[in-house]
Amino acid sequence: MGCILCGSGDTHEILSLSCSVSSDSRFLPFGFSLVRCGSCGTLQKKADETYKLNITELYSHYRSYPLTEGRDQLKSFGKIPVTRAQLIEKNCADHLPETGSALDIGTGSGSFLKVMSEAKPNLKLFAQDIGRDPDFSVDVKKFYTCPPDKISERFSMISMIHVLEHITEPHEFLENVKGLLTENGVLLIQVPDISSNIFDTAVLDHVVHFSKASLYSLLKEHFKCVALPEGQVAKEITAIASMHGRDTKQPEKETVDFEKYIEYLKTVSEINEPMYVFGTAPVSTFFGGYIGDRLVGFLDEDTFKQGKLHLDKKIISPLDAENGIKCILPFPQEMASNISARFNKIDFITICSSTL
Ligand SMILES: [Zn+2]
Repeated sequence: MGCILCGSGDTHEILSLSCSVSSDSRFLPFGFSLVRCGSCGTLQKKADETYKLNITELYSHYRSYPLTEGRDQLKSFGKIPVTRAQLIEKNCADHLPETGSALDIGTGSGSFLKVMSEAKPNLKLFAQDIGRDPDFSVDVKKFYTCPPDKISERFSMISMIHVLEHITEPHEFLENVKGLLTENGVLLIQVPDISSNIFDTAVLDHVVHFSKASLYSLLKEHFKCVALPEGQVAKEITAIASMHGRDTKQPEKETVDFEKYIEYLKTVSEINEPMYVFGTAPVSTFFGGYIGDRLVGFLDEDTFKQGKLHLDKKIISPLDAENGIKCILPFPQEMASNISARFNKIDFITICSSTL
């Protein structure tokens, strides 16, 4: 099978697992094979027929963030917690139009459109998704449930927040989206950054694992101008593509220490005792399912989630964790160090401590 981004036939398997997680945080019995392209270096799922069937099955039950009941995830910004959508708008504000119309593709519960409706009140808003999420409550001109290539209107701005990493034919998809933009229109994209969070490979429906360099190169094949705004959300890559906008230079290739991740999976699977998992987002859910019967429960700082059940186990505050029970902390090193420092009574298993 050829590389999804560059088409090279030189792809080789680097990991194969018998379980996974969906991006709406459901532990899945679907295995997958992760491959790396020998030519462009991109990590990606092997998107064969079985993979595509599993993805169709996954999307037929999809629900954006069921545990949060449609609220956008919180990101810490200074001392005031802000949502991911607010951060994206803030970081990209001066690239975005004030008037005209804006389409949000894969809108989910509409958290980004909600922010846009307050930040850019003169924009006419449109939404698209495969279905209307029950929590979607933004006042839009139109909600499309058809694929983007069936839309006939043109937009001065299109946003795709966490969409492109799900697409098995990104070149064709981007061409279709480009056709929906007005001449001066801008495309705002955000995808997870594999260089800063290797754990994202566990998410089954993330088919391409982008780095800044690979996202930039892909967009450059379809748009004249690509800019990576200076402010970036942790673990994510935000990019703006257009035909007449701003252009920043090609980012340098970053290396992904995949060996460390494989070692971490091995370490976790060999610890034969009850464990907590920190967090309830997809990656944490993956580890909760991965350790099976050894899972005691989830630790989460979000008071909204505490007391609820996840994989049939209770979500509790990290402050209430029982002494002496280890806790899997599946976060990139820097974030893991911050969390360990804040909850120094908990015996965390982090990717930095994975060589025990
Ligand atoms: Zn490639």
